[in-house]
Amino acid sequence: MIKTEKTLHLRSCRGRTVRVVREHYLRERVPCCSALCQADCDNGAKVLPGDLTHYVVPDAEVVADYLEILEFRELQGIVFTQTACQALQSKGRRYYNRLRSLVKDPRHDCVLFANEFQEYSYCPREKGETQDQWMTRCVYSAAVWYYNHLAGVMNIVMITEDQDAVARYSSLNSGVFVISVQEYLQSFWPDLKAAHELYSSISQVLQEKEGEDSEKEFTEHLPAEVLEAGIKSGRYIQGTLNVSKHRAQNEASIMTEGLSTKNADLSSGVLVFGGKNRNRAVHGDVVVVELLPKSEWRGKTTALSEGQADEKSEDEASRPMPTGRVVGVLQRNWRDYVVTFPTRDGTQSQSRNSQRILAIPWDRRIPKIRISTQQADALQDHRVVVRIDSWESTSLYPNGHSVRVLGRAGELETEVQTILMENCIHVPPFSDAQLREMPVNSPEKPWTVDSEQAGRRRDLRDTHLVFSIDPRGCEDVDDTLSVRRLAGGELLELGVHIADVTHFVAEGSLTDLEARTRATTYYLADRRYDMLPAVLSADLCSLLGGVDRYAMSVMWELDARTLAVNKVWFGRTLIRSSYQLHYELAQALLNGDPADVPELAELGSEEKDARLAELTQALELLTHVARHLRAQRDRGGALELEGVEVRAQLDEDRNITALVPRQPLEVHETVAECMIYANHWVARKIQETFPYQALLRRHPPPRQELFSQLVDTAEARGFTVDTRTNKALADSLDRAVDLEDPLVNRLLRMMATQAMSQAVYFSTGAQPQDQYYHYGLALDRYTHFTSPIRRYADIIVHRLLTAAIAVDAGAESKAPANNKEVEETAHHINNRNRAAQRAQNLSTALFQCLYFKEKDPQTDPRCVADAVVYAIRDNGVLVFVPEYGLKGPVYLRNREGQVAAPGPDGGCDWQSGSVRRHQDQITVSSAGGSATFRLFDHITVRISVHSTSCHADTLNLELLQNRPHHSAEAQQDGPGRGRGQLVQEVVRLAEEAQQREARPRLSREEREFSQSRTPNLYSLLEEVRELALMDPDRLAQLCMTTA
Ligand SMILES: [Zn+2]
Repeated sequence: MIKTEKTLHLRSCRGRTVRVVREHYLRERVPCCSALCQADCDNGAKVLPGDLTHYVVPDAEVVADYLEILEFRELQGIVFTQTACQALQSKGRRYYNRLRSLVKDPRHDCVLFANEFQEYSYCPREKGETQDQWMTRCVYSAAVWYYNHLAGVMNIVMITEDQDAVARYSSLNSGVFVISVQEYLQSFWPDLKAAHELYSSISQVLQEKEGEDSEKEFTEHLPAEVLEAGIKSGRYIQGTLNVSKHRAQNEASIMTEGLSTKNADLSSGVLVFGGKNRNRAVHGDVVVVELLPKSEWRGKTTALSEGQADEKSEDEASRPMPTGRVVGVLQRNWRDYVVTFPTRDGTQSQSRNSQRILAIPWDRRIPKIRISTQQADALQDHRVVVRIDSWESTSLYPNGHSVRVLGRAGELETEVQTILMENCIHVPPFSDAQLREMPVNSPEKPWTVDSEQAGRRRDLRDTHLVFSIDPRGCEDVDDTLSVRRLAGGELLELGVHIADVTHFVAEGSLTDLEARTRATTYYLADRRYDMLPAVLSADLCSLLGGVDRYAMSVMWELDARTLAVNKVWFGRTLIRSSYQLHYELAQALLNGDPADVPELAELGSEEKDARLAELTQALELLTHVARHLRAQRDRGGALELEGVEVRAQLDEDRNITALVPRQPLEVHETVAECMIYANHWVARKIQETFPYQALLRRHPPPRQELFSQLVDTAEARGFTVDTRTNKALADSLDRAVDLEDPLVNRLLRMMATQAMSQAVYFSTGAQPQDQYYHYGLALDRYTHFTSPIRRYADIIVHRLLTAAIAVDAGAESKAPANNKEVEETAHHINNRNRAAQRAQNLSTALFQCLYFKEKDPQTDPRCVADAVVYAIRDNGVLVFVPEYGLKGPVYLRNREGQVAAPGPDGGCDWQSGSVRRHQDQITVSSAGGSATFRLFDHITVRISVHSTSCHADTLNLELLQNRPHHSAEAQQDGPGRGRGQLVQEVVRLAEEAQQREARPRLSREEREFSQSRTPNLYSLLEEVRELALMDPDRLAQLCMTTA
């Protein structure tokens, strides 16, 4: 090792440059991280493959300015030098962290080379050399070292934007190619169009940066150390900026929750009013505010604004509250934003070869973003993904650059992509490298059970009658069941056998990382994006009938009489499901109705009868056990909110032809109960083995004050709802039934759902044990174990269970992850689940709008529907439209001050008049008379689309008549009928439009590996559940069967 000295020029927080001399140790051996290494470098797990055409070494400036391009997964063989990393570090922590995660991520083919510690690649700075020149020389020297170290068998390309360096180093004949970024992309990645576009977009911004005007629009942010000292002393307050959705221009607040606030006044947050006070902070940023003098405090605006259907009553919100101004930003939380390039009207500024456009973000909470582009005309009315680069105090708007064009606003594909992007959902087709990890199962090379695996697993193939019960046509069968009598009938054995996904998805593999990133399968109105590649989700992990499959099993030995648990066995098994039943078929067998079991079709009548009797007996036994389990939980106070009430009818292409009502089948509950039981016992097992590192799911009890609306509403109809305990709530909801109008009970259950908190995953080490409780299911411990194909939480739980089983077998107790890691994962999955819900809600709303956009509301009878009032507001009512499963405000007084006055025939039109609101009713008076609207009243509304090209369209509900829609009685189709047709029709219209334009459709691979246009039945049922809950805003968060 050689000791030398290295001079560093560090910049202090105050902006001064400090010269520091450090001892610097040079080594001969620094890992090269290449598979081609002949020198026995001590390379880690991640190495650059040897079969590439070249390795590329970007210089410090390229890494700093064009990191986004280097982030393309298509780019391979990237060597990041220590020099470049350090340069990036000085640009800001955010950039440095991005590079770090890039280097760590095995899906990205790049490594870090500690060039400044390598004896032969290190070069000290020379006299007269600028910092930039020196860094470029260091990177060049590193590139040369690679060329020599790998004995010239790999082409090494250095990329730099310094034209002098290109000229100087190209002439040295060292074996290294030195070229510019643009030349590099053109020569090596000519087809990677997205990277080329991003390059020109970024270089445009870099050019524009020079010559900005310098007049100040905002006050400067204070330096970090001043902010920190101010927070400590209590002068400043730190929090996350939350911009009001409906008054984004002016209103924002700082949430101080979880922060120590010495000032009790601040518990409801700090208001930041107006753009100047917001001082360039963007929604989501962590900011520091200073309170204004009390005389300048103000209240939030309370009037119901257009398109607002907030549930929360804002009665007391208008009094003045602590108000402040932003003095600094601690952390920018900028993400990728979808913007719309507005229609050009010639007023935007133009310079020689580029134009500056004020693009309008889809999310109303985000300010307009100034983009420099040469494509301003071509991109008119297009949705484009952009990133914010900076927001200087001299600029009214932040500056950004475009990343990628999504398409023309208003088209189905563009809008769906917008929804995904806005929720940070990235679901690219699974890469080749990921798919190479997958086992093969093809007609030529069928997958078979591995004999070594078979030896290690409990083989249930000949001993247990295993079967599955799922919705009709289900492809991804996560779960199967078995039940049998033991010991001459004294004992029962119940088994739940779950797809052994973790056998195929090794921890840390590319597939695992991708699944973790996605965290869940995403279900949109017309498609789904799977968490796992199809070869697993629809084939090898799917517990299909008649084939050998690996499973993870829980088996209980129960006392046949009392059903008390004697013992529980957890372990890996080998199963062969005998029957793949669907719910209706299973119920028919239980009811003794004639039923055709496809698996028995070929058999002679004697054998058929015997096997049918065996199967029916098993189903009966299962029902018996499940009833008992359910009764046990009911005594504990489990809540039944809205269950599944309609079923999807599919044609042979598995398109939805209708959603038809059906009787709730007991067998649904039976299956759900067994799954809940398995989840509960696995939760107990992993929590007992790993008290501080297990992943569980808890459902906090609702806050009582949120129930007040429910209680008041029920009272208006003469019902008493008792919310003191979950048991009391469940019982009183059961009693609140209006025989005249079944919607009353459903609306009440919907409100109960809304008052509920959300169930969340957590690490057992991060909560005291009394917080583990699952309120909805009335269980002290709960987790997710039964759907590893579509939920990443279940994959983690399978690994925890495997580790717990190993401990039982005598292994050293070692949790797969520590508390902090489990808590981080839980946080990530919770976050992704919320994104999945939002995306699903948005896509539902999108389909509703696209459906109604095609219709003339004045003439089309489908635009007129029955609606039920479920809340009263100052200037109108909130209604639910059962036919289409949508909710929204109906205004009784418009902006012009006119009121919707009913005439003698019940028809309504706008006239001058007044509205008066009471507790649970609102009265409209005009010259023609008056009308009162009460909770649960049925009215007739007209549905039309309110279009705004830059944001999502919204639906407008307009009062037509203050009486039920005339055909409401006749429509016995059940809820959601219209919705199923709606999705279908919109898809058909979009496809027709696509054919007209002859654009390429999705490739076969895209369909197979990441996308399915037709939803599977699971997603339909989820959708239907949502309808049953009648709450597009907070979707099925509480469908009890999957909670
Ligand atoms: Zn090496």
